[in-house]
Amino acid sequence: MIELRTPAELDGLRTAGRFVADVLDALVDATDVGVDLLDLDALAGRMIAERGAESCYVDYHPSFGAMPFGRYLCTSVNDAALHGLPHAQRLVDGDLVSLDFAASVDGWVADSAVTVQVGTPRAEDQRLVATVRRALDAGIAAARPGNRLGDVSSAIGSVARDAGYPVNLQFGGHGVGRSMHGDPHVPNDGRAGRGMVLRPGLVMAIEPWLMAGTDELYQDQDGWTLRSSDGSRAAHVEHTVAVTEDGPEVLTLRSAERAALLA
Ligand code: MG
Repeated sequence: MIELRTPAELDGLRTAGRFVADVLDALVDATDVGVDLLDLDALAGRMIAERGAESCYVDYHPSFGAMPFGRYLCTSVNDAALHGLPHAQRLVDGDLVSLDFAASVDGWVADSAVTVQVGTPRAEDQRLVATVRRALDAGIAAARPGNRLGDVSSAIGSVARDAGYPVNLQFGGHGVGRSMHGDPHVPNDGRAGRGMVLRPGLVMAIEPWLMAGTDELYQDQDGWTLRSSDGSRAAHVEHTVAVTEDGPEVLTLRSAERAALLA
């Protein structure tokens, strides 16, 4: 069921979005050579506790997960694309890590992800990250009243395909509200002009993710982490976006993105 949010409900979602953005800002700042994935997870957990927020991940146990997730944060390193379960692993120079975080504040959820190049960036990773960011921007730009869901999907998929990257359609964006995953499903490719009409009050997570050489995943022995079938590296970015009368409003802008808007 598609739920449209009232202005008061959108305020609740904005508050959650700002908290999620602040946590990702802190995590990006902390991500560096030698830092352990469990330290990043603990930082997210501390910020949740200090804010009196609730984790969306700790008890999360969908059909595709082997057991409850048990951590606060997804950390997907190099060939890990999605749902990376943090474990004791120190980041090394050249790693490519995506941080995916969702939390509930006063009953409203926001969900966002960022990909960080650790230490010395690799040129091929930079191209992948730049492409997935452009795909996110294109998807957000299409999230306007009167457009259709397929316009968002098509905008994302076009950027990926034009850059030569295959697109996996198993996992994509989703409605966000009182819980982390709701309708609609937002595939990362599709046909423009198809699907439901977007109306003000619709809130969804838009989340392109790409693997450099394949669209196929396999599940790690940890029961959660999804890795590229060919070992190629992956990048994932996500924002929670509200469709408003004036166009898309990104609820999870991080500080650098807010500053860029004001510049
Ligand atoms: Mg997410």
